[in-house]
Amino acid sequence: MIYLDNAATTKMFEEGVEVYKKYACHCFFNPSAGYNQAIAISHELEQVRKDLLSKLGAKNGTIIFTSGATESNNLAIMGSKRNGKWEYVFSMGEHPSVYRVAKELELQGHIVHYVNLTKEGSVDYEHLKTLVNDKTRLISIMHVSNETGAINDLAQINEIRKKFAPQALLHVDGVQAFCKLEYKIDEYDIDLYTISAHKFHGPKGIGALYVRNIQSLKPIQYGGEQEFGLRAGTENVAGIMAMQYAFNNINTKENYEKVLGLQQIFLNNFKKNNDINILKTNNPYIMSVEFNGVNGETLMRILQDNDIIVGMGSACSTKKMGNRILENMGYSKDKVKSHIRISLDASLTEQECEFASREIVRHY
Ligand code: PMP
Repeated sequence: MIYLDNAATTKMFEEGVEVYKKYACHCFFNPSAGYNQAIAISHELEQVRKDLLSKLGAKNGTIIFTSGATESNNLAIMGSKRNGKWEYVFSMGEHPSVYRVAKELELQGHIVHYVNLTKEGSVDYEHLKTLVNDKTRLISIMHVSNETGAINDLAQINEIRKKFAPQALLHVDGVQAFCKLEYKIDEYDIDLYTISAHKFHGPKGIGALYVRNIQSLKPIQYGGEQEFGLRAGTENVAGIMAMQYAFNNINTKENYEKVLGLQQIFLNNFKKNNDINILKTNNPYIMSVEFNGVNGETLMRILQDNDIIVGMGSACSTKKMGNRILENMGYSKDKVKSHIRISLDASLTEQECEFASREIVRHY
């Protein structure tokens, strides 16, 4: 099988599974307990927080372990909600774990604005300027689109925030950027940053939320005092340790260079056919590809029968809802149907990419 849906999830590192097993079966103690074995685990978790802050490029701030990006996004948004006449700003490109929280805020009577996307898939910065003001409590804009791979310019977003809404918190869903692009979140004064381990070869069901200032957040679930009182519940220690293994063993720069080369193989083979259009994004990891006149889902199934797995965009947005994101970028409903998503990983070989891209062209 050639797996080209790495934006949906990735395979765990085999060694990470061993780490998971160690903390599930041997060092399985509850880090909140008082005996030495448990205290040792709580120290190990502190080290993971430090390593993660450093990988994110944050000097200060706190790491809150969660069950994944959906929970991190819910905590970031609902946890920063305040009573009074505050406003909230989201992009139209957000994953449902942000977008549907925004819709819930609206239902609760809050004022919510949505920034449009450009044809290229990033946020329209001019539009953003018109939506933020001194009443903005939170701006939530993803780093990289899981749908198109488009990268949002966090420097520009931060500049707009500083100029027009200095009191607003900036939340960034970094799921598709972490361990793929090189950046330091401190450079953009980010207040809240979401990651999810299964997108970078860690286990499913574990993720984190970076919080610059814990005073800015309130818990959204109640129970024990774990995670600085912001996320009650016994930590998923085995998941956290396997997540640490994953991000500590990814060389972001090296992988990026490799994936850039792999993407070029697809571009070379696709450019031979004028009816295949790839959205240009400067991101080698995710390609949104339009196959003129063909139903993407049909193509996906044909490829699947030939052992090549491609994606259709966010698993949560397929079929039922059409595609809010591509439609906001200006694609007609018909055009949207001819898209597939190809998302790469550094573990792919050149031969696999050569073969898969030729097969895709052949079956189209
Ligand atoms: N945000 C983005 C950008 C994503 O791609 C995903 C996963 N598709 C999520 C959030 C949700 O992640 P999780 O599965 O960890 O809840």
